[in-house]
Amino acid sequence: ITIPALLRQAAERHGSREALVFTDTGIRMTYAELARQTDRLAAGLLELGVGKGDRVGIWSPNRCEWVLTQFATARIGAILVTINPAYRLAELEYALNKTGCKVLIAAESFKSSRYLEMIRELAPELAAAAPGRLAAARLPALRHAVVMAAEPGPGVLPFETLQEMSAGADTAALDAISAGLAPDDAINIQFTSGTTGLPKGATLTHFNIVNNARFVTSRIKLTGADRLLIPVPLYHCFGMVMGVLGAVSKGAAMVFPGEAFEPAAVLDAAAAERATALYGVPTMFVAMLQELDRAPRNISSLRTGIMAGAPCPIEIMRRMNTDMHMQEVTICYGMTETAPVSFQSFTTDPAEKRCTTVGRVHPHLEVKAVDGEGRTVPAGERGELLVRGYSVMQGYWDDPAATEAASSDGWMRTGDLATIDSDGFCSITGRLKDMIIRGGENIYPREIEEFLIRHPQIADAQVFGVPDEKFGEQVCAWIVPAPGAGLDEEAVLSHCRGQIAHFKIPQYVRIVPELPMTATGKPQKFKMREIMVQQLA
Ligand code: ATP
Ligand code: MG
Repeated sequence: ITIPALLRQAAERHGSREALVFTDTGIRMTYAELARQTDRLAAGLLELGVGKGDRVGIWSPNRCEWVLTQFATARIGAILVTINPAYRLAELEYALNKTGCKVLIAAESFKSSRYLEMIRELAPELAAAAPGRLAAARLPALRHAVVMAAEPGPGVLPFETLQEMSAGADTAALDAISAGLAPDDAINIQFTSGTTGLPKGATLTHFNIVNNARFVTSRIKLTGADRLLIPVPLYHCFGMVMGVLGAVSKGAAMVFPGEAFEPAAVLDAAAAERATALYGVPTMFVAMLQELDRAPRNISSLRTGIMAGAPCPIEIMRRMNTDMHMQEVTICYGMTETAPVSFQSFTTDPAEKRCTTVGRVHPHLEVKAVDGEGRTVPAGERGELLVRGYSVMQGYWDDPAATEAASSDGWMRTGDLATIDSDGFCSITGRLKDMIIRGGENIYPREIEEFLIRHPQIADAQVFGVPDEKFGEQVCAWIVPAPGAGLDEEAVLSHCRGQIAHFKIPQYVRIVPELPMTATGKPQKFKMREIMVQQLA
């Protein structure tokens, strides 16, 4: 099945049902209206000269136009390149040029970033050119920059707006174009989070993402009666695949609580819209639980949801089950390159399993954990996780060397360490890259983090290796204290002494107010390591 076929099906079966709600702007749309507006926008893109296989970049926070663009590009077989709204000039230039985007669709601004000013800086020729006819030296492939603005005003000119672009465009050709698309066509280039380094662009097909989306929401038993609250960013597979495509495949309503994650706004939306399902990464749930302590709300309509993207402290899962009413919450494990999910718990798995594992493998995928020589390790033992099956990406866009490095005999190397027990439950025990080797001893940061976080005055702990002349590597911990806690290095160390092996006790402890994070809410250890290496030099 293709994305346009998926949306057509939803519009036929659930046409009068609510599809989209944006609580910040008040926009509401049924499935029939979503299909209609998608067609207008697709026709506009067609008139701009966008065709099958052309790359269209989207650079915007979560807005209604984002979802419309996602379906409109797919309708005509254009490849949507999802660009992180937190990117700045150099990163935008890299993403657009790396993928050869012909069109960029951008919001006017996000937080303090003025997007139009940044685009003008990249393409100073723009003001002189006829609107929409770009020929910029630094962006050789780009022809059009289109803005999500209601009106072409002084701040917007000489860009064209989405409305202008689609006004009166002819939708007659669309059905024939969509019918000519194949499930194995590339439809998305999604960048990885950049947790371990520079983000990589994974090329994904209709088949990869539509099927993965269906399996993900089947496992949380989502139906047309559900209202799924999506505070995670759309430019990432969590939002656009597991969220949007997952909801559309079941005819569920999608509720978006704003452009950027605000715990209070999410909880208010959950209460006002009677949301039944909620997605998030662990740091979001931590913030929501804190906000709920501060100001309780009636969110008893919640039933299920997904926590994914990073390891989750068990205590947080327990509180989600009780304080947030999400007794059927599931954990997903996945990566952009596998479209994304490969493991997920069932809503019926024992709570303990849903706290301590990422569940069992998804249908139609094969997985194994292997040792350094590529041999499968026995059940329950740690190895690198490999995945094979329908959801694995075509490759990294325009990067055959990286694609090659990520695969092993037809399997996708996840770069994650995992154990799979004899019942098939998988536990992620860290990233291969993050494993610390100190004096020949393998140290798994996750273990130490789980231990540190049990201290009541520690809100978050990140453990990583720093180079050391004598031992090769030494253990370093960055600690975020709980609000109001007067924690110092000595308190952290005395918490460890006698409780964990001496070689796991951090050699360096830093108390920090916050951590460097990706826009998807994941702590970036490579940045912490860089800072420590500078400090220690
Ligand atoms: P990059 O590849 O650019 O360094 P990234 O790997 O964080 O960034 P994503 O594709 O967004 O980019 O995230 C996938 C990774 O997130 C997985 O490889 C894994 O390390 C981590 N992850 C995802 N889900 C879970 C989970 N439930 N528990 C633990 N880790 C998870
Ligand atoms: Mg990765």
